[in-house]
Amino acid sequence: MSLISDPTITVLVATMLGLAIGSFLNVVIHRLPKMMERQWRAECADLDSASTVSPVEMQAEERYNLFVPRSRCPSCAQPISAMQNIPVLSYLVLGGKCAGCKLRISPRYPFVEAISGALAGYAAWRFGFTTAGIGALIFVFAMIALTFIDLDTFYLPDDITLPLLWAGLLMNLGNAFVDLPSAVIGAACGYLALWSVFWMFKLVTGKEGMGYGDFKLLAAIGAWLGWQMLPLVILLSATVGAIIGIALMVFARHDRETPIPFGPYLAIAGIIALFHGQVINRHYLNFL
Ligand SMILES: [Zn+2]
Repeated sequence: MSLISDPTITVLVATMLGLAIGSFLNVVIHRLPKMMERQWRAECADLDSASTVSPVEMQAEERYNLFVPRSRCPSCAQPISAMQNIPVLSYLVLGGKCAGCKLRISPRYPFVEAISGALAGYAAWRFGFTTAGIGALIFVFAMIALTFIDLDTFYLPDDITLPLLWAGLLMNLGNAFVDLPSAVIGAACGYLALWSVFWMFKLVTGKEGMGYGDFKLLAAIGAWLGWQMLPLVILLSATVGAIIGIALMVFARHDRETPIPFGPYLAIAGIIALFHGQVINRHYLNFL
């Protein structure tokens, strides 16, 4: 069912929305890990009665969440005005430098905005203005945030993976992507699949190849796309991981012992499965 008949307008609106949300995702990627760290520190201080910093004092520390304080330059502390906060465009106009102190701004900020805009537009084109279309936007934005947080911190926060899992199940109450039984089985099997790999790998090699965040992420992907997509997602993430891993070792002389987070590969595989999983699965089954 399409609520808006002109697909061009839907794609255009979704792209603009994606650019704006991409700008917000930059804040989430930057601040969520810091907020978690503050919370842990407060909890530790709470447990440690000998601590000189009381939890009350921790709370009294400057308020810090996704909306407060306002974004500012980390070098000269000049607040970023609304005009300097237009996704991608402001970066280009400012030449990638802070308007106050000319400090170089990371190209990752406009990149996150651009990729959010592009994927949102693609989701609108692929699914139209439907429940699945709106769901696809939520799914894609979560994958982008998780990818960059994992790259920065090696964490996939429960604050994103768990609500995403519930959202996937709720979405499929109305069969937005798959029927509810497939979604429920997908969530459970997604978690168990990586959990078993983790323990087998650990028993054999004594090393830990991934983290519990990865299991929760695959559970969430299973809740959204159904158990039928899990083999494809695992295969795709392993393939993408192998390609990027080899490329990093060859071109960036990446040390083999330095760990690479697995979350981004799962997220990329999840996005591919969301858009093209059914077609790939059909060809793949024909091939078999
Ligand atoms: Zn500055």
